[in-house]
Amino acid sequence: MYYEAFGQTPVITDLPDPTPDDGGVVVKVMATGLCRSDWHGWMGHDPDIALPHVPGHELAGVVVATGRNVTRWKEGDRVTVPFVCGCGGCPQCDSGNHQVCDHQFQPGFTHWGSFAEYVAIRYADVNLVRLPESLDYATAASLGCRFVTSFRAVVDQARTSAGQWVAVHGCGGVGLSAIMIANALGANVIGIDIGEDKLKLARELGAVAVVNSTKVEDTVEAVKEISGGGAHVSIDALGNPATCFNSVANLRKRGRHVQVGLMLGEQATPQIPMSSVIANELEIYGSHGIQAHRYDAMWSMIEHGRLDPRKLVGKTVNLEQGAAALTDMDNFTATGITVIDPNI
Ligand SMILES: [Zn+2]
Ligand SMILES: [Zn+2]
Repeated sequence: MYYEAFGQTPVITDLPDPTPDDGGVVVKVMATGLCRSDWHGWMGHDPDIALPHVPGHELAGVVVATGRNVTRWKEGDRVTVPFVCGCGGCPQCDSGNHQVCDHQFQPGFTHWGSFAEYVAIRYADVNLVRLPESLDYATAASLGCRFVTSFRAVVDQARTSAGQWVAVHGCGGVGLSAIMIANALGANVIGIDIGEDKLKLARELGAVAVVNSTKVEDTVEAVKEISGGGAHVSIDALGNPATCFNSVANLRKRGRHVQVGLMLGEQATPQIPMSSVIANELEIYGSHGIQAHRYDAMWSMIEHGRLDPRKLVGKTVNLEQGAAALTDMDNFTATGITVIDPNI
């Protein structure tokens, strides 16, 4: 899937197959998730994208070629990658924080991505993650950025623990992932959205309470009332000035807000109730992907049934249908994560 101008309908066309650089591999794409960041990229909201472009950043597949310096991977390995790949050699990577690497490789953003039969991945030894035998490609691709970023948000950034109240603003792919993960940790989760179908899914995935923002006078007060004084942890899973504000404002003292939903374009600088941040000693975090070395913790929770990301997978489509879904994403109300299989 290829576009030469932002906002122009992507075309499905034959392009030369990629070759691996010395430290990279080429992966045959078996499944690749469709995500709102692909839509933002296509709209021209992402300064990392140079035209012409092939989008796609949530992928799972098989290694089919390796560069001469690659030591850990061989043809036939079943793999995925975090959407932010680290270089392995900068101070951030040295500290174990590849998700904020100084020289990021992001398939589908800084380089051509996975809405294709083959994708080249750089820094393969640092970033490839082996798929557990039991995990199918569609589920692995659907972990893409939403599930893994939520995992980092809930587990590593928010340090959520059993019995805490966790408010999740927005019950799309990111929010539902966060609800499932926080519930698995033993937290009491409140799902907030404007769609009854999404709130129903939120309950099915473990939310103990839901708030429909269109049906209450004040979302912040509703969360405070349910949680007996405010959430310990609150996540803006949508990325909107209103949900961001509510997520900070509904915290109890010393609570932690994590911004996961992207804030781009004219929404990039939302209002934050900074007086409450000071007076109540609130903590504000971002969550930007996850390091390849943190997948192990997630795999063990999936393999033992504590997390079931299969429940988040929606329909599987081909590249043509994926292009249509991408351009329609702003009006797209499908529940669950749409996965493209380039081989059908
Ligand atoms: Zn780095
Ligand atoms: Zn994504």
